[in-house]
Amino acid sequence: MVANNKTNVDKALKALKDRNIYAEYVDNADQAREKVSSMVSNSSTVGIGGSITVQELDLENLLLNKDCIVFWHWHGTNQEEQDAIRRKAMTADFYICSSNALTLDGKLVNIDGTGNRVGAMVFGPRRVLIIVGVNKLTENLDTAMERIKTKACPPNARRLNKNTPCAETDQCPDCSSPHRMCNVTTIIEGKPGSIDLNVLIVGEELGY
Ligand code: SF4
Repeated sequence: MVANNKTNVDKALKALKDRNIYAEYVDNADQAREKVSSMVSNSSTVGIGGSITVQELDLENLLLNKDCIVFWHWHGTNQEEQDAIRRKAMTADFYICSSNALTLDGKLVNIDGTGNRVGAMVFGPRRVLIIVGVNKLTENLDTAMERIKTKACPPNARRLNKNTPCAETDQCPDCSSPHRMCNVTTIIEGKPGSIDLNVLIVGEELGY
């Protein structure tokens, strides 16, 4: 994590804009919720990627209050049901998730166990909003990967009861566990051609 200051936020915002990715900053969670409410039309279909940030912002209830149909695989009770929801989320009108890291030169870095979240971030839903707490800002790609492997995966593995080395030690030996969560790694370096990609940086710590 880099110093949580406005200079670094401004650097990341400018870098994203230079990569043709629409980016904005808000100070806090309440403003982030207002932003989401203004961006998503009433009665839209909305997919949600596995995201503690979205959960912390309580966006699902916000969307349901706008009569949106929300596809969030966390509500599936088994693998088959979860995959069916994931597929619907990937063709929703709107997709909301977070990023595991955002570098100061504007690269969005993500790992995924299943791949649905990182897939939907670049193609499928026509509009995508990636919400990034300031704790996700990193200097460069190396520190982004370090953050992901030591700050994001370990708590996620513990939350999901995954039997991975990082869940035990907070360190990553590039495991071959069947529970491995880092199966797909993506770096968004510019606006994907067919979607409207938006990034919202929030001046608070959100997710991990
Ligand atoms: S490769 Fe394995 S140990 Fe490393 S962060 Fe991913 S799940 Fe954890």
